[in-house]
Amino acid sequence: MSEISGQCLCGAVRVTAQTDNPILRACHCEMCRRHTSGAFFSIETVPGSVIVTGDAMTYRSSEWAQRGFCGTCGSTLWYETIHDGRRNLAAGLFEDGGGAPLKMEFFADKCPQGYRLAGDHRRLTTDETIAMFAGGAE
Ligand SMILES: [Zn+2]
Repeated sequence: MSEISGQCLCGAVRVTAQTDNPILRACHCEMCRRHTSGAFFSIETVPGSVIVTGDAMTYRSSEWAQRGFCGTCGSTLWYETIHDGRRNLAAGLFEDGGGAPLKMEFFADKCPQGYRLAGDHRRLTTDETIAMFAGGAE
């Protein structure tokens, strides 16, 4: 378990959390792309460990999830599943992306044609991504 702490672009929102899985995961789903202007790179956190200070706002992006953003500068802060309160914090909030390696891409088949992420990490298609979350194996 390690502690990560970071801040949004303007510094109005600061976050601290515990993570026991310090890896980066990138999501190419349409909602993440619209919210971040690219893949959403995030770090999974230990439920209940996230401490947020400042003017964080949330947007309910689907029946099951909401997304946090800074009320001042609009920086993407997190993706949270409502039923269990799990939050994946935006990697961009942390120095050097949290220093974590990219290990997984979700909705890899939805990645725009104009770019690809390098590396030999795991790439899950839409079907594989949905199966993973439906199976509760997150
Ligand atoms: Zn801000």
